[in-house]
Amino acid sequence: MKRSALLVLLLCAIIALAAPARAVTGEKAEFKKIADGVYAFIGKLNDANALVIVTTEGVVLVDTGNNPPETRILQKFIQSVTSAPVRYIVISQNHGDHTGGVPLFSPPANVIVHDRVLKEWAKWKPFQIKSWRKHFPERSEALKDVNPTDSVLSFHDHMVLHLGGKTIELIYVDDTYNPGDVAVWLPDSGVMHAGFVGYITRHPDIRPDYSHGTTGGMLKQLEVLGALKPKILVPAHGPLGDVSDLYALNDYLLSARQKIRTMTSQGLPLPEIEKRFNMSEYKGWDRDSHFPWTAETIYRELRGEGPQIVPVAERTVRATISKLAEEGRFLTVTSDAGEEVRLRVSTDTDFEGVSDRSRLQVGMKVKALYQVPQGANAALGYDVEELDVEP
Ligand SMILES: [Zn+2]
Repeated sequence: MKRSALLVLLLCAIIALAAPARAVTGEKAEFKKIADGVYAFIGKLNDANALVIVTTEGVVLVDTGNNPPETRILQKFIQSVTSAPVRYIVISQNHGDHTGGVPLFSPPANVIVHDRVLKEWAKWKPFQIKSWRKHFPERSEALKDVNPTDSVLSFHDHMVLHLGGKTIELIYVDDTYNPGDVAVWLPDSGVMHAGFVGYITRHPDIRPDYSHGTTGGMLKQLEVLGALKPKILVPAHGPLGDVSDLYALNDYLLSARQKIRTMTSQGLPLPEIEKRFNMSEYKGWDRDSHFPWTAETIYRELRGEGPQIVPVAERTVRATISKLAEEGRFLTVTSDAGEEVRLRVSTDTDFEGVSDRSRLQVGMKVKALYQVPQGANAALGYDVEELDVEP
């Protein structure tokens, strides 16, 4: 073997040793039978999971896949085990990676959400509705006059579905800032979809505007869900677990709060706390990028402050895509004036010129309309409202 080849091998070995073991889910989505007529869709690389409950009265689906290509895979999986239609979709949390697949199934399927989520959907702006109708090109004709709230059933504190001999309980744990997170509990089989407090091998996504709730509210949810002692836990993100993973997230949140409490009592200012805060003892968990927001959220909570309210300014840029990550979810563009802008595509982003974010490529010329939060940290990049890909 040549010396250079040996060197390369040695380097690879060193890199492999140095890289933290990522205990994330596999490179392809999986579909696993977890109880009689109950299946877990496990998103690839910690993408959003889903739960599928097959009854003689049709399929109940909990969450809808990370983005359109994944939702189509989820649909194929469902079709591989039943010819029954999806009748109900339960939304466990109002985030695009859980809600974005709704228009593939609904209507005719009804969407079940907490009242608070319905209120949010009723406030959608025209670009969001436009984007919703276009998520799946094969559905855009059928949805052209449909509004996202047209097939919604909402509930206030508790709802139980009795379908084809299966009991499906929807659990909401009230809290001032709970944005409408719902856990799904199947008492007969001990299966639970834990909604927003189901994080296994991923750092939770908590934000200072409390749009994803608070750590205080999550701890309340964990207490209620933990008491049910699920035998099989389908988290929002990560591999399947059981009740011990609810306890583990409880410990995680308590420890995170203690760290912030300690730094606050030392009189450290928030920017310093954000810089020092980490949960790196959770080795192999992905999304370290959530640390600054987690720190800031807990800091607000412990001081008894309400959600951060951030005015948003709209900006437009004509640019070329210079970097892409996570199938187009995060992109860096270089403007015609040479400025780098980090953007974040959401489920609400209205695309022109491509069908969805997975079609984006480095070198494409784009025009983006995006939101710049005033005086706040857009840690993950600016949210894009419209992205026109120029031919
Ligand atoms: Zn998610």
